[in-house]
Amino acid sequence: MRSTMQEFPLTLTALMRRGRDVFGSSKVVTATESGFRTSSFGEVATRMAQLAGGLASIGVSPSTRVGTLCWNNQEHLEAYFAVPCMGAVLHTLNLRLPSSQLAFSINHAEDEVIICDSSLIPMLEAVLPQLNSLRHIVVIGDAPCTTSLPVHRYAELMDTSAKTYAWPDLEETSAAAMCYTTGTTGDPKGVVYSHRSMYLHCFGVWGGLGLTDSDSMFPVVPMFHVNAWGLPYVGWMLGCDIILSDRFMQPAHLARIIEAQRPNFIAGVPTIYGGLLLLAETSPVDFSSVRLAISGGSAIPESMIAAAQERHGLRIVSAWGMTETSPLGSAAFPPPGCTPEEDVAWRARTGRIAAGIELRITGEDGGELPWDGKSVGEIEARGPWVTGAYYRAEAPDRFHDGWLRTGDVGTIDPSGVVQITDRVKDVIKSGGEWISSVELENQIAGHPDVLEAAVIAVPDERWQERPLACVVPRPGAAVEPEGLRQFLSSRVARWWLPERWALVAEIPKTSVGKFDKKLLRAQYAKGELDVVLLPPLPRDDG
Ligand code: AMP
Repeated sequence: MRSTMQEFPLTLTALMRRGRDVFGSSKVVTATESGFRTSSFGEVATRMAQLAGGLASIGVSPSTRVGTLCWNNQEHLEAYFAVPCMGAVLHTLNLRLPSSQLAFSINHAEDEVIICDSSLIPMLEAVLPQLNSLRHIVVIGDAPCTTSLPVHRYAELMDTSAKTYAWPDLEETSAAAMCYTTGTTGDPKGVVYSHRSMYLHCFGVWGGLGLTDSDSMFPVVPMFHVNAWGLPYVGWMLGCDIILSDRFMQPAHLARIIEAQRPNFIAGVPTIYGGLLLLAETSPVDFSSVRLAISGGSAIPESMIAAAQERHGLRIVSAWGMTETSPLGSAAFPPPGCTPEEDVAWRARTGRIAAGIELRITGEDGGELPWDGKSVGEIEARGPWVTGAYYRAEAPDRFHDGWLRTGDVGTIDPSGVVQITDRVKDVIKSGGEWISSVELENQIAGHPDVLEAAVIAVPDERWQERPLACVVPRPGAAVEPEGLRQFLSSRVARWWLPERWALVAEIPKTSVGKFDKKLLRAQYAKGELDVVLLPPLPRDDG
């Protein structure tokens, strides 16, 4: 029997109309060098239509890939809707990728148009000789661009004679946007989101993070990193004021933006919070407007959540996801009745499986493992906003009976709460047993004199692998490995305690701010790290 319900396509166009028609007076605020520029949703919606008209005039048609090489700003938001809603495909380019990978992803996606911020023109010029499909460049601002291709000024390309655009009817399964993964091995892999997946993900984020239409949001996460976790779309759908940092990503600028605009919701990777909290130690930052700060992209140390709460009243909650999962997969909102200590510990976890997503864990033989909070296996995911393939790239090893293999290793407890202990490629197998690098990092980061810590596996004659702890001391602090090991000894199993320690000035980071463990391992292999070897402690098992 068929239902009587309307067959209403789930498209970004419907969300675009909602922000335009219901929340015309909500604001989009973009930071400038010393102030802000502000437009209403009504104005931005008109500009979305004018941008679509301009892009159509240079030949953008259904399925044309339009790249954006942009910071978080109003124009990027305009492209976020204009491009998919005209039936073309938005390809957000990661401006922190090395140029070879940036060129690879532009060529692989066959971008024909790139919209580029003036400040990023040098980056685009550096890859232009390697690009095969590009036909037009649209520059936001006045910067000159040296190329034989047609260069259009964003402001002039806009069809300002029009107030609307004849937005086409789209199939919900058609491509809306694409992102390339930032995995540090091999070529980046493309994920193509559909209108339907993005629409449903918006609802998942709205409920999963408990956002409301009275929130004002400051997504610090870049709009090239999994669509800023979908937040600009959710903010538009809910009529939240949307605050964007443009290129002003340094802690002092972020603090200025938070204090001036008083968002009540912010979202960023742990390094962003680390930077803000470090700044706040020497020059106080007023976080009082923020009711919720979401951290994702990497595990966040519990000590950081505790310090943010105790010293600054900033409530940070961890969430997990990946480019392949749009990204929301879990969020760590504590259940009612927690003590303050339990509340902090809860918020540092990977979180409860988000509504709309299904997760399972599998063992080395591919068999499903129980949700007992103890069995450790690879996490697999499926759901309406999880990718079922990579774009034009065979990767059969990444999928398993219709589930995505996430490459994350962890446990699930009987109430669907996930704890990631490692990446598959980062696990430390010592004497046949797993040591969680994530747990070691979090515990070391809890030492008052430690700013950051990353732990990698290094070869060991006796145990095959042992952990090497790379530690960045706080400015002015004197830390030494024996003291750190002593600190750790009451916090993790004795046989996990690293013998190898390296005090470093900084931990190398990937293009989206994660510890670059591949680079750390290479530095270790080349003998570039100054490693202190402590005498091994006798293992419990001898
Ligand atoms: P990306 O596709 O760049 O967003 O990276 C996704 C990966 O980031 C995941 O597979 C995890 O390894 C890691 N990740 C994201 N969020 C978290 C989190 N809350 N805890 C631990 N790892 C995380």
